[in-house]
Amino acid sequence: MKAKRKHLILLLLGIILTGSLLLPGCRNELISGKTKNIILFIGDGMGVTHVTAGMTVNKAALNLQKFPYSGFSITHSADNYITDSAAGGTAIACGVKTNNGMLGLNPDESVAVSVLEVLHENGLATGLVSTSSITHATPASFIAHNSSRDNYEDIALHFLNGSVDVFLGGGENHFRKRADGRDLAAELEEQGFDLVYTPAEMKASSSDKLAGLLAEVHMPRESEGRTGILEEMTRKAIEVLSREKKGFFLMIEGSMIDWGAHANEIDYVTSELIDMDRAVGVALDFAQKDGQTLVVITSDHETGGLSLTGGNTDEGTVNAAFATTDHSASMVPIFSYGPGAQDFSGIHDNTFFFDAFLKVLGIRK
Ligand code: MG
Ligand code: ZN
Repeated sequence: MKAKRKHLILLLLGIILTGSLLLPGCRNELISGKTKNIILFIGDGMGVTHVTAGMTVNKAALNLQKFPYSGFSITHSADNYITDSAAGGTAIACGVKTNNGMLGLNPDESVAVSVLEVLHENGLATGLVSTSSITHATPASFIAHNSSRDNYEDIALHFLNGSVDVFLGGGENHFRKRADGRDLAAELEEQGFDLVYTPAEMKASSSDKLAGLLAEVHMPRESEGRTGILEEMTRKAIEVLSREKKGFFLMIEGSMIDWGAHANEIDYVTSELIDMDRAVGVALDFAQKDGQTLVVITSDHETGGLSLTGGNTDEGTVNAAFATTDHSASMVPIFSYGPGAQDFSGIHDNTFFFDAFLKVLGIRK
Protein backbone atom coordinates (compact mmCIF):
# COMPACT_ATOMS: atom_id res chain seq x y z
CA MET A 1 0.00 0.00 0.00
CA LYS A 2 2.82 2.37 1.02
CA ALA A 3 4.89 1.44 -2.05
CA LYS A 4 1.85 2.05 -4.21
CA ARG A 5 1.39 5.52 -2.72
CA LYS A 6 5.10 6.29 -3.29
CA HIS A 7 4.70 5.30 -6.95
CA LEU A 8 1.66 7.52 -7.24
CA ILE A 9 3.54 10.49 -5.74
CA LEU A 10 6.43 9.91 -8.16
CA LEU A 11 3.99 9.71 -11.07
CA LEU A 12 2.27 12.93 -10.00
CA LEU A 13 5.66 14.64 -9.60
CA GLY A 14 6.55 13.47 -13.09
CA ILE A 15 3.34 14.90 -14.48
CA ILE A 16 3.95 18.23 -12.76
CA LEU A 17 7.60 18.39 -13.91
CA THR A 18 6.94 17.47 -17.53
CA GLY A 19 3.69 19.42 -17.56
CA SER A 20 1.77 16.60 -19.10
CA LEU A 21 0.82 12.97 -19.00
CA LEU A 22 2.67 11.26 -21.82
CA LEU A 23 0.26 8.91 -23.49
CA PRO A 24 0.93 6.70 -26.52
CA GLY A 25 0.27 8.69 -29.70
CA CYS A 26 0.53 12.00 -27.86
CA ARG A 27 2.84 14.34 -29.75
CA ASN A 28 3.76 16.84 -27.11
CA GLU A 29 6.45 18.54 -29.17
CA LEU A 30 3.75 20.20 -31.25
CA ILE A 31 1.65 21.57 -28.41
CA SER A 32 3.51 24.84 -27.85
CA GLY A 33 4.12 25.66 -31.53
CA LYS A 34 2.43 28.49 -33.39
CA THR A 35 -0.84 27.67 -35.16
CA LYS A 36 -0.94 28.97 -38.72
CA ASN A 37 -3.56 26.79 -40.39
CA ILE A 38 -6.78 25.10 -39.28
CA ILE A 39 -8.37 22.12 -40.98
CA LEU A 40 -11.82 21.33 -39.57
CA PHE A 41 -13.72 18.17 -40.44
CA ILE A 42 -17.43 17.93 -39.75
CA GLY A 43 -18.80 14.40 -39.92
CA ASP A 44 -22.47 15.21 -40.30
CA GLY A 45 -24.49 13.06 -37.90
CA MET A 46 -21.34 11.41 -36.49
CA GLY A 47 -21.78 10.27 -32.92
CA VAL A 48 -19.34 8.24 -30.84
CA THR A 49 -21.14 5.04 -31.89
CA HIS A 50 -20.71 5.86 -35.59
CA VAL A 51 -16.97 6.19 -34.95
CA THR A 52 -17.00 2.89 -33.03
CA ALA A 53 -18.84 1.18 -35.90
CA GLY A 54 -16.42 2.59 -38.50
CA MET A 55 -13.46 1.60 -36.35
CA THR A 56 -14.77 -1.97 -36.03
CA VAL A 57 -15.58 -2.38 -39.73
CA ASN A 58 -12.14 -0.95 -40.60
CA LYS A 59 -10.56 -3.48 -38.19
CA ALA A 60 -9.32 -0.92 -35.65
CA ALA A 61 -7.31 1.09 -38.15
CA LEU A 62 -8.86 4.56 -38.39
CA ASN A 63 -6.78 7.72 -38.72
CA LEU A 64 -9.06 9.17 -36.02
CA GLN A 65 -7.39 6.81 -33.54
CA LYS A 66 -4.08 8.65 -34.04
CA PHE A 67 -5.43 11.92 -32.63
CA PRO A 68 -3.90 12.67 -29.21
CA TYR A 69 -6.74 14.78 -27.81
CA SER A 70 -10.46 14.18 -27.68
CA GLY A 71 -13.51 15.83 -26.17
CA PHE A 72 -17.24 16.25 -26.54
CA SER A 73 -19.56 18.87 -27.98
CA ILE A 74 -23.08 19.59 -26.69
CA THR A 75 -25.29 20.17 -29.71
CA HIS A 76 -28.66 21.65 -28.62
CA SER A 77 -29.93 24.56 -30.76
CA ALA A 78 -31.56 27.81 -29.59
CA ASP A 79 -35.11 26.53 -30.07
CA ASN A 80 -34.77 22.76 -29.84
CA TYR A 81 -33.15 20.13 -27.62
CA ILE A 82 -32.33 18.32 -30.89
CA THR A 83 -30.52 20.44 -33.46
CA ASP A 84 -30.61 20.27 -37.23
CA SER A 85 -27.51 20.73 -39.40
CA ALA A 86 -28.20 24.43 -40.08
CA ALA A 87 -28.27 25.45 -36.41
CA GLY A 88 -25.54 22.93 -35.59
CA GLY A 89 -23.30 24.26 -38.38
CA THR A 90 -24.03 27.86 -37.44
CA ALA A 91 -22.99 27.18 -33.82
CA ILE A 92 -19.64 25.79 -34.96
CA ALA A 93 -19.08 28.37 -37.71
CA CYS A 94 -20.38 31.52 -36.00
CA GLY A 95 -20.30 30.73 -32.27
CA VAL A 96 -24.00 31.44 -31.71
CA LYS A 97 -27.02 29.29 -30.94
CA THR A 98 -29.72 29.81 -33.53
CA ASN A 99 -33.05 28.21 -34.41
CA ASN A 100 -33.24 25.00 -36.42
CA GLY A 101 -33.22 25.72 -40.15
CA MET A 102 -31.40 29.07 -39.90
CA LEU A 103 -27.96 29.73 -41.38
CA GLY A 104 -25.44 32.31 -40.15
CA LEU A 105 -28.08 34.31 -38.33
CA ASN A 106 -28.99 34.88 -34.69
CA PRO A 107 -32.55 33.83 -33.71
CA ASP A 108 -33.64 37.49 -34.24
CA GLU A 109 -32.30 37.21 -37.83
CA SER A 110 -29.38 39.59 -37.23
CA VAL A 111 -26.21 38.45 -39.03
CA ALA A 112 -23.74 36.24 -37.16
CA VAL A 113 -20.29 36.50 -38.78
CA SER A 114 -18.53 33.18 -39.39
CA VAL A 115 -14.99 32.16 -38.49
CA LEU A 116 -14.30 31.78 -42.21
CA GLU A 117 -15.36 35.39 -42.81
CA VAL A 118 -13.28 36.72 -39.89
CA LEU A 119 -10.20 34.83 -41.07
CA HIS A 120 -10.70 35.99 -44.66
CA GLU A 121 -10.79 39.59 -43.35
CA ASN A 122 -7.48 38.85 -41.60
CA GLY A 123 -5.81 37.73 -44.84
CA LEU A 124 -5.98 33.96 -44.47
CA ALA A 125 -7.01 31.78 -47.40
CA THR A 126 -10.31 29.96 -46.87
CA GLY A 127 -11.94 26.84 -48.24
CA LEU A 128 -15.05 24.66 -48.04
CA VAL A 129 -15.30 21.03 -49.19
CA SER A 130 -18.39 18.81 -49.10
CA THR A 131 -19.68 15.59 -50.61
CA SER A 132 -23.18 17.09 -50.70
CA SER A 133 -24.16 20.23 -52.57
CA ILE A 134 -21.85 23.03 -51.45
CA THR A 135 -25.02 25.05 -50.81
CA HIS A 136 -26.27 22.44 -48.29
CA ALA A 137 -26.64 23.39 -44.61
CA THR A 138 -23.22 22.42 -43.24
CA PRO A 139 -20.91 24.23 -45.71
CA ALA A 140 -23.50 27.01 -46.10
CA SER A 141 -23.23 27.76 -42.34
CA PHE A 142 -19.73 29.14 -42.97
CA ILE A 143 -20.60 31.48 -45.85
CA ALA A 144 -24.35 32.21 -46.00
CA HIS A 145 -26.73 34.26 -43.89
CA ASN A 146 -30.24 33.08 -44.62
CA SER A 147 -33.36 32.38 -42.58
CA SER A 148 -33.89 29.06 -44.38
CA ARG A 149 -31.42 26.34 -45.30
CA ASP A 150 -33.76 25.42 -48.19
CA ASN A 151 -33.06 28.64 -50.15
CA TYR A 152 -30.28 26.97 -52.15
CA GLU A 153 -30.20 29.51 -54.98
CA ASP A 154 -29.98 32.42 -52.51
CA ILE A 155 -27.26 30.57 -50.59
CA ALA A 156 -25.26 30.13 -53.83
CA LEU A 157 -25.14 33.94 -54.20
CA HIS A 158 -23.08 34.15 -50.98
CA PHE A 159 -20.22 32.32 -52.72
CA LEU A 160 -19.79 35.48 -54.80
CA ASN A 161 -19.05 37.65 -51.76
CA GLY A 162 -15.31 37.04 -51.97
CA SER A 163 -14.72 35.44 -48.57
CA VAL A 164 -14.10 31.89 -49.81
CA ASP A 165 -11.15 31.10 -52.11
CA VAL A 166 -11.70 27.39 -52.75
CA PHE A 167 -14.97 25.49 -52.70
CA LEU A 168 -15.37 21.94 -53.89
CA GLY A 169 -18.54 19.85 -53.79
CA GLY A 170 -21.84 19.35 -55.56
CA GLY A 171 -24.47 21.95 -56.38
CA GLU A 172 -23.85 22.99 -60.00
CA ASN A 173 -27.61 23.45 -60.57
CA HIS A 174 -27.89 26.08 -57.82
CA PHE A 175 -25.24 28.15 -59.63
CA ARG A 176 -26.27 27.55 -63.24
CA LYS A 177 -29.92 26.43 -63.49
CA ARG A 178 -31.48 29.19 -61.50
CA ALA A 179 -34.95 30.71 -61.40
CA ASP A 180 -33.41 34.19 -61.85
CA GLY A 181 -31.58 33.09 -65.02
CA ARG A 182 -28.16 34.19 -63.72
CA ASP A 183 -25.11 32.05 -64.47
CA LEU A 184 -23.12 32.30 -61.25
CA ALA A 185 -20.35 30.16 -62.73
CA ALA A 186 -19.71 32.85 -65.33
CA GLU A 187 -19.83 35.53 -62.62
CA LEU A 188 -17.30 33.59 -60.55
CA GLU A 189 -15.02 33.31 -63.58
CA GLU A 190 -15.19 37.09 -63.92
CA GLN A 191 -13.98 37.24 -60.30
CA GLY A 192 -10.94 35.14 -61.20
CA PHE A 193 -12.19 31.69 -60.18
CA ASP A 194 -11.25 28.62 -62.15
CA LEU A 195 -14.52 26.66 -62.55
CA VAL A 196 -14.12 22.88 -62.73
CA TYR A 197 -16.74 20.18 -63.15
CA THR A 198 -14.81 16.90 -62.92
CA PRO A 199 -12.16 15.54 -60.51
CA ALA A 200 -9.65 15.47 -63.41
CA GLU A 201 -10.24 19.17 -64.18
CA MET A 202 -9.93 19.91 -60.46
CA LYS A 203 -6.57 18.11 -60.19
CA ALA A 204 -5.22 19.93 -63.26
CA SER A 205 -6.14 23.44 -62.06
CA SER A 206 -3.30 25.76 -61.07
CA SER A 207 -5.54 28.64 -59.96
CA ASP A 208 -5.44 30.14 -56.45
CA LYS A 209 -9.23 30.59 -56.66
CA LEU A 210 -10.98 27.36 -57.41
CA ALA A 211 -14.68 26.47 -57.61
CA GLY A 212 -15.40 22.78 -58.16
CA LEU A 213 -19.03 21.93 -58.91
CA LEU A 214 -18.57 18.20 -59.24
CA ALA A 215 -22.25 17.13 -59.24
CA GLU A 216 -25.55 18.70 -60.35
CA VAL A 217 -26.77 18.53 -56.74
CA HIS A 218 -25.26 15.95 -54.38
CA MET A 219 -22.45 13.53 -55.18
CA PRO A 220 -23.24 9.81 -55.18
CA ARG A 221 -22.66 7.90 -51.98
CA GLU A 222 -19.19 6.37 -51.52
CA SER A 223 -20.42 2.85 -52.25
CA GLU A 224 -22.09 4.02 -55.48
CA GLY A 225 -19.18 5.69 -57.27
CA ARG A 226 -17.62 8.38 -55.08
CA THR A 227 -14.63 6.41 -53.78
CA GLY A 228 -11.55 8.60 -53.38
CA ILE A 229 -13.21 11.90 -54.35
CA LEU A 230 -13.31 13.37 -50.82
CA GLU A 231 -9.61 12.56 -50.41
CA GLU A 232 -8.84 14.20 -53.76
CA MET A 233 -10.85 17.32 -52.88
CA THR A 234 -9.08 17.50 -49.51
CA ARG A 235 -5.65 17.15 -51.13
CA LYS A 236 -6.43 19.80 -53.75
CA ALA A 237 -7.90 22.28 -51.27
CA ILE A 238 -4.83 21.97 -49.02
CA GLU A 239 -2.50 22.31 -52.04
CA VAL A 240 -4.16 25.55 -53.17
CA LEU A 241 -4.79 27.13 -49.75
CA SER A 242 -1.33 26.35 -48.34
CA ARG A 243 0.16 28.77 -50.91
CA GLU A 244 -1.07 31.61 -48.69
CA LYS A 245 1.79 32.69 -46.41
CA LYS A 246 -0.56 34.04 -43.72
CA GLY A 247 -2.22 30.64 -43.31
CA PHE A 248 -5.55 29.08 -44.14
CA PHE A 249 -8.85 27.81 -42.76
CA LEU A 250 -10.45 24.80 -44.41
CA MET A 251 -13.72 23.05 -43.50
CA ILE A 252 -14.31 19.59 -44.95
CA GLU A 253 -17.64 17.85 -44.54
CA GLY A 254 -18.37 14.13 -44.58
CA SER A 255 -22.03 14.82 -45.41
CA MET A 256 -23.50 11.39 -45.82
CA ILE A 257 -22.68 9.77 -42.47
CA ASP A 258 -25.90 11.57 -41.52
CA TRP A 259 -27.81 10.27 -44.53
CA GLY A 260 -26.83 6.66 -43.84
CA ALA A 261 -28.04 7.08 -40.27
CA HIS A 262 -31.34 8.69 -41.38
CA ALA A 263 -31.81 5.64 -43.61
CA ASN A 264 -30.90 3.35 -40.67
CA GLU A 265 -28.39 1.60 -42.98
CA ILE A 266 -25.27 0.72 -41.01
CA ASP A 267 -23.20 -0.15 -44.12
CA TYR A 268 -24.00 3.29 -45.54
CA VAL A 269 -22.90 4.89 -42.23
CA THR A 270 -19.63 2.98 -41.94
CA SER A 271 -18.62 3.34 -45.62
CA GLU A 272 -19.14 7.12 -45.37
CA LEU A 273 -17.30 7.34 -42.05
CA ILE A 274 -14.32 5.34 -43.36
CA ASP A 275 -14.33 7.52 -46.50
CA MET A 276 -14.10 10.69 -44.38
CA ASP A 277 -11.39 9.05 -42.30
CA ARG A 278 -9.27 8.60 -45.44
CA ALA A 279 -9.57 12.35 -46.07
CA VAL A 280 -8.61 12.90 -42.41
CA GLY A 281 -5.47 10.89 -43.20
CA VAL A 282 -4.59 13.33 -46.01
CA ALA A 283 -4.99 16.28 -43.61
CA LEU A 284 -3.03 14.54 -40.85
CA ASP A 285 -0.14 13.79 -43.24
CA PHE A 286 -0.01 17.46 -44.20
CA ALA A 287 -0.22 18.61 -40.56
CA GLN A 288 2.55 16.26 -39.43
CA LYS A 289 4.91 17.56 -42.13
CA ASP A 290 3.86 21.20 -41.73
CA GLY A 291 3.96 21.40 -37.91
CA GLN A 292 1.83 24.56 -37.81
CA THR A 293 -1.54 23.06 -38.66
CA LEU A 294 -4.31 22.28 -36.19
CA VAL A 295 -6.66 19.50 -37.33
CA VAL A 296 -10.02 19.22 -35.56
CA ILE A 297 -12.70 16.63 -36.28
CA THR A 298 -16.18 16.98 -34.86
CA SER A 299 -19.85 16.67 -35.75
CA ASP A 300 -22.95 18.86 -35.77
CA HIS A 301 -25.16 16.25 -34.06
CA GLU A 302 -25.73 12.53 -33.68
CA THR A 303 -28.12 10.88 -36.14
CA GLY A 304 -30.11 7.69 -35.70
CA GLY A 305 -29.67 7.07 -31.98
CA LEU A 306 -27.23 4.40 -33.09
CA SER A 307 -26.40 1.50 -30.81
CA LEU A 308 -24.10 -1.46 -31.42
CA THR A 309 -25.58 -4.68 -30.10
CA GLY A 310 -22.76 -6.91 -31.29
CA GLY A 311 -19.75 -7.07 -33.55
CA ASN A 312 -16.32 -8.51 -34.31
CA THR A 313 -13.25 -6.34 -34.92
CA ASP A 314 -11.22 -9.21 -36.47
CA GLU A 315 -13.97 -9.83 -39.00
CA GLY A 316 -14.94 -6.17 -39.35
CA THR A 317 -18.61 -6.69 -38.61
CA VAL A 318 -21.14 -4.88 -36.42
CA ASN A 319 -24.77 -5.41 -35.46
CA ALA A 320 -26.56 -2.09 -35.31
CA ALA A 321 -29.81 -0.87 -33.84
CA PHE A 322 -31.22 2.58 -34.48
CA ALA A 323 -33.56 4.36 -32.06
CA THR A 324 -34.78 6.95 -34.60
CA THR A 325 -34.62 7.93 -38.27
CA ASP A 326 -33.93 11.51 -37.11
CA HIS A 327 -31.21 13.27 -35.12
CA SER A 328 -30.68 12.69 -31.41
CA ALA A 329 -29.52 14.95 -28.57
CA SER A 330 -26.36 12.98 -27.67
CA MET A 331 -23.07 14.79 -27.32
CA VAL A 332 -20.71 14.25 -30.27
CA PRO A 333 -16.96 13.62 -30.25
CA ILE A 334 -14.12 16.05 -30.90
CA PHE A 335 -10.67 14.84 -32.00
CA SER A 336 -7.71 17.22 -32.33
CA TYR A 337 -4.07 17.23 -33.40
CA GLY A 338 -1.39 19.89 -33.72
CA PRO A 339 -0.56 23.20 -32.03
CA GLY A 340 -3.53 24.28 -29.88
CA ALA A 341 -5.09 20.81 -29.96
CA GLN A 342 -5.22 20.62 -26.16
CA ASP A 343 -7.81 23.45 -26.10
CA PHE A 344 -10.31 21.08 -27.73
CA SER A 345 -10.35 18.41 -25.01
CA GLY A 346 -13.10 18.36 -22.39
CA ILE A 347 -16.83 18.99 -22.71
CA HIS A 348 -17.81 22.13 -24.63
CA ASP A 349 -20.93 23.73 -26.00
CA ASN A 350 -20.90 23.67 -29.82
CA THR A 351 -20.57 27.49 -29.83
CA PHE A 352 -17.06 27.24 -28.37
CA PHE A 353 -15.32 26.33 -31.64
CA PHE A 354 -15.57 29.86 -33.08
CA ASP A 355 -13.70 31.50 -30.20
CA ALA A 356 -11.31 28.57 -29.79
CA PHE A 357 -10.25 28.77 -33.46
CA LEU A 358 -9.61 32.52 -33.26
CA LYS A 359 -7.75 32.10 -29.95
CA VAL A 360 -5.30 29.48 -31.26
CA LEU A 361 -4.59 31.67 -34.30
CA GLY A 362 -4.13 34.73 -32.09
CA ILE A 363 -6.83 36.65 -34.01
CA ARG A 364 -9.55 38.83 -32.50
CA LYS A 365 -13.05 39.00 -33.93
MG1 MG B 1 -24.42 18.38 -43.82
ZN1 ZN C 1 -29.62 14.90 -40.75
